[in-house]
Amino acid sequence: MIEPSVRVRFAPSPTGYLHVGSARTALFNWLYARHTGGEFVLRVEDTDEDRNRPELLEVLFELMNWLGLDWDGDPVFQSNNRDRHRDVVASLLGQGRAYLCDADNERIDGSDLLDGHAVRFEVGNDATVTFDDLVRGSMSFETGALEDFVIWRSNGSATFILANAVDDADMAITHAIRGEDLLSSAPKATLVMNAMGMAPPTYAHLPLLVNESRKKLSKRRDDVSIGDFRDRGYLPEAMVNYLALLGWGPPDETEIRPVEEIVALFDLTDVNSAPAFFDVEKLDHFNEHYLRALSPGEFVRAAEPFVTGSNTPWAKADYDPTVLETLAPEVADRVST
Ligand code: GLU
Repeated sequence: MIEPSVRVRFAPSPTGYLHVGSARTALFNWLYARHTGGEFVLRVEDTDEDRNRPELLEVLFELMNWLGLDWDGDPVFQSNNRDRHRDVVASLLGQGRAYLCDADNERIDGSDLLDGHAVRFEVGNDATVTFDDLVRGSMSFETGALEDFVIWRSNGSATFILANAVDDADMAITHAIRGEDLLSSAPKATLVMNAMGMAPPTYAHLPLLVNESRKKLSKRRDDVSIGDFRDRGYLPEAMVNYLALLGWGPPDETEIRPVEEIVALFDLTDVNSAPAFFDVEKLDHFNEHYLRALSPGEFVRAAEPFVTGSNTPWAKADYDPTVLETLAPEVADRVST
């Protein structure tokens, strides 16, 4: 039997910033694709009209490029698949696997998709959904414990579960590598795909990122924005190397190593399910290492945005890159960012 080649996707919503957790997800997908010689696709989950602004996407693309996470082919926009999502919902209704709801959320008769009505998928109460998660092992969910979940909103749009499941199947995604917060949606997506006669991808749910108090990283409390790290003087090589270790560890335990070596060693079966501590001090240590490894010329180029800005104690005209180049080894030895 010929194994289908790996095809993975990073599926962000366009939020205008890149959370370290999303960057870790993107990186693990990219590493797996590059390790296996497969494809890494970018799918923008842009079905939420309110948040769908092109300038937000530019930020995302720019940060992906900064990290060196190149994707294959053009990005896929989920909003282009609306008709297909609608067809799947209509067909699930027609097959009696889903039902219409009125404005009071009460079940109503009918098998045609009607405007202004939501649709719920009927999970039934005597089945078990099982799958082997490459990180978390064998998973099992009783349908009796799941509610009949909404797949179509009364405003005429597909919900996340429906759109995500249908697109994974249609795009022949072989592995869905993503954050653990999405684990509970996997059995629902699996039910939808099975009802459609489509095959779910192999799941790999990556461990949660936590802060020093072992709490889930929070946008308000913790530093979580990749763009902010870039703007504060972290090198992309340091960031990528550090992010790769959030849940994964190389068999030889050598932590600081070039990304080509990480690609060669990376495997999903070596990803740990325990929460991973996002340790900024450790990231600083990685950054110091990478700063010191720069040649004087590279150091000057990397420092340029920080030494020619408006916040420097010298006038822009007094900045002389050749002087900084002479000093580079001394400076690099003394700074973390
Ligand atoms: N769009 C989802 C998110 O922003 C990711 C979905 C997935 O990877 O399956 O969290």
